[in-house]
Amino acid sequence: MDAKTDSQRMEKIVSLCKQRGFIFQSSEIYGGLNGCWDYGPLGVELKRNLKNYWWRMMVHERDDIVGMDGSILMNRAVWKASGHEDTFSDPMVDCRSCKARLRVDQLINKKGVKQCPNCGGKDLTEPRAFNLMFKTYVGATEDESSITYLRPETAQAIFVQFKNVLEISRKKLPFGIAQIGKAFRNEINPRNFTFRSREFEQMELEYFCRAEEGMKLLEYWKEERLKFYENIGIARENLHVHEIPDEERAFYSKGTYDIEYDFPFGWQELEGVAYRTDYDLSQHQKASGKSLEYFDEEAKRKFIPHVVEPSAGVDRTVLALICEAYSEDEAPDEKGKMETRTVLRFHPRIAPIKCAVFPLLKNKEQLVAKAKEIVDFLRPHLSIFYDESGAIGRRYRRQDEIGTPFGVTVDFETLGEKDPELRDTVTLRERDSMKQERVKISDLVQLLSQRIA
Ligand code: ATP
Repeated sequence: MDAKTDSQRMEKIVSLCKQRGFIFQSSEIYGGLNGCWDYGPLGVELKRNLKNYWWRMMVHERDDIVGMDGSILMNRAVWKASGHEDTFSDPMVDCRSCKARLRVDQLINKKGVKQCPNCGGKDLTEPRAFNLMFKTYVGATEDESSITYLRPETAQAIFVQFKNVLEISRKKLPFGIAQIGKAFRNEINPRNFTFRSREFEQMELEYFCRAEEGMKLLEYWKEERLKFYENIGIARENLHVHEIPDEERAFYSKGTYDIEYDFPFGWQELEGVAYRTDYDLSQHQKASGKSLEYFDEEAKRKFIPHVVEPSAGVDRTVLALICEAYSEDEAPDEKGKMETRTVLRFHPRIAPIKCAVFPLLKNKEQLVAKAKEIVDFLRPHLSIFYDESGAIGRRYRRQDEIGTPFGVTVDFETLGEKDPELRDTVTLRERDSMKQERVKISDLVQLLSQRIA
């Protein structure tokens, strides 16, 4: 069976994530909370590396994009103007046979007859709208006037701060505002591990432009985003661009692409890249009565900019990175017997731990002291893990399983006991090829930094 479509593969990934501290069920000791997840010590590193790399590529390495960090709670008027209060809903049906509550777009269509995907039942209720926003109250009284929502996307904070950011950053079109933050959706059916959660993070860019540049920039951002995924180690053949047909697109959008990944549970959306025209800013201008126009100094005219939005999910990308990295191969154990090795082949750029440091033997004081010295020397530059317990092969295997790309071993040659020429050298082992090379301790920072960049 193709390992990619194997549900066992997904089970192994979920179990590895828990055992090695990538992802835990939220509130696990109380039975969990459906659709919510906690990232453990390794998961949080992976997630941060992803967000930092996105920020670096989108904000730091560009002159035309600035960042912001908006609040999760906003004035309810924002959600009225954006259309979320009235229309941010999934049409739902109930299956009268198995009682499942289902999204209309998940029903099976057999020769024009809609069926329940769980039991095949055809006795379904009429579709009803189910709003996905979490409602809450601000302040002491719980009445109509204090209602607001946990934001279902980060983008609206960017739109409503457009004028402030434009004025202080003094950018000219085209320019963008980027943001990473939490979003909340009361998904009917959270599933596929973290893929569809109720609390998740988004990395969104709103790239403002002139109307005539919109379609070209849509293509540009689609390509840029594909390159981004390749740069974090996702193979191009596991990415697919789905062009949303006219009839399925939001009415205001002139073009939308979904970038999909080949998850073990099928092709699913990682990111949407949408040309949203001037819809959002126009809506907020109308509702707030405040001008959100841009003044074009050359043409001496005012207009509402158009926007192209690449909107990616942090959690979905983390899951894609883990799925892409997960592999099993054969490696020799201490006695030279081949055994199955589980290895996460993360790109060094996003790996939670970059380098592990091992003294060959834990009961040799000089080896331990030297290894700890190397840890202190490397730690300001890279995330390091020190491990002295168990046979060296086992220690390598533990690092392979969490995707650490490099391992440094301090042995008797490091101490110059066999050959004075080799004093202050260590073995550097590469995770995927398992090849080892002898390198000088003083070269380690530069060597590792180059390979990780
Ligand atoms: P879907 O069709 O899968 O529900 P969407 O088209 O509603 O997703 P968008 O509104 O375009 O998603 O949100 C942008 C990105 O935010 C998505 O591409 C995805 O990566 C992420 N995202 C959206 N909903 C969720 C969720 N429930 N859990 C995790 N990530 C999500």
